[in-house]
Amino acid sequence: MSDSVIPQPQNPPLLIVVSGPSGVGKTRICNRLMENDSRLVRSISATTRPPRPGEEDGTDYFFWGEDEFKSAIGEGLFLEWAMVHNHRYGTLDATVDKLLGEQKSPVLNIDVQGGASVKAIRPDAVLIFLLPPSMKALEERLRGRSTDSEAVIATRLQNALTELKRYEDYDYVVVNDDFDQAVAQIESIMTAERARVRR
Ligand code: 5GP
Repeated sequence: MSDSVIPQPQNPPLLIVVSGPSGVGKTRICNRLMENDSRLVRSISATTRPPRPGEEDGTDYFFWGEDEFKSAIGEGLFLEWAMVHNHRYGTLDATVDKLLGEQKSPVLNIDVQGGASVKAIRPDAVLIFLLPPSMKALEERLRGRSTDSEAVIATRLQNALTELKRYEDYDYVVVNDDFDQAVAQIESIMTAERARVRR
């Protein structure tokens, strides 16, 4: 009998959203996921936040002025955007569509408001929420980064309390206690999502 009777797995690209409070380790985890799987590509967001030392326009973010950002909102160019820690951040439709068109899986490291917006428009997106093992650990990680001022750290800790409540908007929740374990858990989630019959 011919193999044509066997359905071909689709193995589609995934639209992956990773959120969690500032300092939980989203960027480090996303970087490792992308190192381990070349199908995963970071979606570069636009932001009105000024660049930190070493950050480059077009690589880390598209660093836009307030006017540029607002006109992009007016033109409907964003899949989602939100005000985070007093600055605007947004995912451009064109960025995500281009990657999906190349059969790549965009990885969106975005805040909880953005995650909920993406899910509303793209219910097929896979939303993963990262939790810290404790508030103490979160604070230590924020201080350890030493890129942010005390005032910024305080704002981010305060915002974390609100953000943590939003985990229920997400499909999966992963505790970033042990880094390698958290990465492995997310890789298992992606393996399962790729094998889904319907999204
Ligand atoms: P940071 O300024 O530390 O790079 O990012 C601050 C926060 O903004 C992080 O929680 C990050 O996930 C979030 N963020 C980055 N890009 C986007 C985006 O395009 N949309 C939304 N909603 N949040 C974003």
